Amino acid sequence: MPENSSLENLLTETRSFPPSPEFAAQANAQAGMYDEARADRLAFWAKQANELLTWKTPFTQTLDWSDAPVARWFADGTLNAAYNAVDRHVEAGRGDRVAIHFEGEPGDTRTVTYADLQREVSRAANAIAALGVESGDRVVIYLPMLVESVVAMLACARLGAPHSVVFGGFSADALRSRIADAEAKLVITADGGYRRGAPSALKPAVDEALEPRDGEAPTTVEHVLVVKRTGQDTAWTEGRDIWWDDALESADVRHEPVWVEAEHPLYILHTSGTTGKPKGILHTTGGYLTQAAFTHKNVFDLKAETDVYWCTADIGWVTGHSYVVYGPLINGATQLIYEGTPDTPHRGRWWELVEKYKVSILYTAPTAIRTCMKWGEDIPAKFDLSSLRVLGSVGEPINPEAWMWYRRVIGGDKAPIVDTWWQTETGAIMISPLPGVTATKPGSAQVPLPGIVADVVDDEAHSVPNGGGGYLVLSEPWPSMLRGIWGDLERYKDTYWSRFPGIYFAGDGAKKDDDGDIWLLGRVDDVMNVSGHRLSTTEIESALVSHEIVAEAAVVGAADETTGQAVVAFVILRGEHADRAATEDGSTEVQTALRNHVAKEIGPIAKPRRILVVPELPKTRSGKIMRRLLRDVAENRTVGDATTLADSSVMDLISAGLAGPA
Ligand code: ATP
Ligand code: MG
Repeated sequence: MPENSSLENLLTETRSFPPSPEFAAQANAQAGMYDEARADRLAFWAKQANELLTWKTPFTQTLDWSDAPVARWFADGTLNAAYNAVDRHVEAGRGDRVAIHFEGEPGDTRTVTYADLQREVSRAANAIAALGVESGDRVVIYLPMLVESVVAMLACARLGAPHSVVFGGFSADALRSRIADAEAKLVITADGGYRRGAPSALKPAVDEALEPRDGEAPTTVEHVLVVKRTGQDTAWTEGRDIWWDDALESADVRHEPVWVEAEHPLYILHTSGTTGKPKGILHTTGGYLTQAAFTHKNVFDLKAETDVYWCTADIGWVTGHSYVVYGPLINGATQLIYEGTPDTPHRGRWWELVEKYKVSILYTAPTAIRTCMKWGEDIPAKFDLSSLRVLGSVGEPINPEAWMWYRRVIGGDKAPIVDTWWQTETGAIMISPLPGVTATKPGSAQVPLPGIVADVVDDEAHSVPNGGGGYLVLSEPWPSMLRGIWGDLERYKDTYWSRFPGIYFAGDGAKKDDDGDIWLLGRVDDVMNVSGHRLSTTEIESALVSHEIVAEAAVVGAADETTGQAVVAFVILRGEHADRAATEDGSTEVQTALRNHVAKEIGPIAKPRRILVVPELPKTRSGKIMRRLLRDVAENRTVGDATTLADSSVMDLISAGLAGPA
């Protein structure tokens, strides 16, 4: 281990997949972009902003960093996000192009062209303005995945009214606190949406969230706009609640966008809450749109005339903001939006959709890929996936074995995979291979994009040498960076800028391999200290997942008298192995096999002290493993705040199983 490294480097991955000459020949991304951006980073971003966006007033200033860590990009330019996403495509004669293929969970479909979108967004903007919403007012959006969700976001942007989207799966309490945090004037919701084959109500959570409570300030919400999706019975507050259709029906189809300054707030969005209380991240307009468009075009190699793009993320997450709404629409893409769950009515639904719409670019999360692996590759094998030409991954480190499966089973061994590292805070992709340029490596996000400066540093902020591990940092401001935490500048400075003065601390561990490529190693909060060795979660989990009987794994450090901390692993086994492990002999066998496997793959120091076979792992609603809850279990503590958990019964299931005979 190199002397000044602050994280152990355990796993060596030697597989590499160079781009095919055919792909490289047609790729949007070019190797020369790195040099161009290195030569003059600000000129590079100014060029992207001018080429990818239409400005009402051109900017003359690229970056103002005088008030660091709050950046101002393209500050004297003016523009409108919705105009850029919709109107200008229609004005350029592309109004007939399909913007959205919508597929509801029950199988209903809708095709929306850019011209349709322009009419809908304009009418919605007029309707929202008629309710008294003005530039700068905040609007909370609490909707399922519908065309109206995209329309609602763009209508707000058209008015200069920042939206705060709250994931439709969140509870009334989570919604209430986000409404209060934003001091929203309007809430846009639906009667319900389709989930796992049945209508699931949404409006009752809004009613509950807006109810007066003793000792709390009265809500700032004046109106609730309600999209009719399921037609289920819906309680109604006269004077406050208005049907979306009624409001839009009488609204004019023409609307003059509100031209805003580049630094005008576009939205507030709360982080996933994997590590604790969610933070209300603030994004502004010009820089954010520039980087969302640039990355969408180059990281996914988008050809707007021919590609059918599908990002499976919900609009409740940042991925849905940058890569369902803003990036693709700014670039004039044709995309698929699917309302429901991947296993309704059957486990092949996603692949059926890929076949039906001839999806050519797919962007999803490792948790979804691991779930499909668990279900078995015979399911995707039933469908024609040959239209796929680029595959993306985001949200967590992707284990090399899951990457290989994704490439082989979904990508037909030819589609390049882009493992994209970024955060709600970064607004857009920061570290990723460029398809057609980068030789990809299973499990690594590899290289900062052109115009992005990232590094891995040790405790003293020194760059670690190749082969070393430490903290991921971003050393220079970037266009789509957050402009703060809503209403809490101190927390912003404290969370991201105090660990290493002057550089952005991402909160993730990382290492550099011998080529200098970056590998994400999981949260810094989750790093374990075993006999003085600092071990990250990702590599041990990847070693476990590379054993044929393991479907998913999560490791944590639990206090240990002799070693400081000991590695404790929670594993989900594939199919029949789970039954076998439930017997006493079987359990011992599994423990021994997996401990030996980890020792062989990455070394004895990483060998789990305990391995617990569990039926499920605790995950956030965006699909990320919440290790802090497992640490509570491993250390026999009461389980901490689990409000962002997708399924709160999972922790009971895990605790009950552990108390039992297994
Ligand atoms: P909170 O900040 O509230 O704990 P969160 O960090 O899960 O929540 P997001 O902004 O949705 O909220 O997630 C960003 C994080 O997801 C990154 O910091 C990183 O830990 C992880 N991540 C995202 N993409 C990747 C990737 N490609 N490889 C590894 N990790 C990733
Ligand atoms: Mg985070």
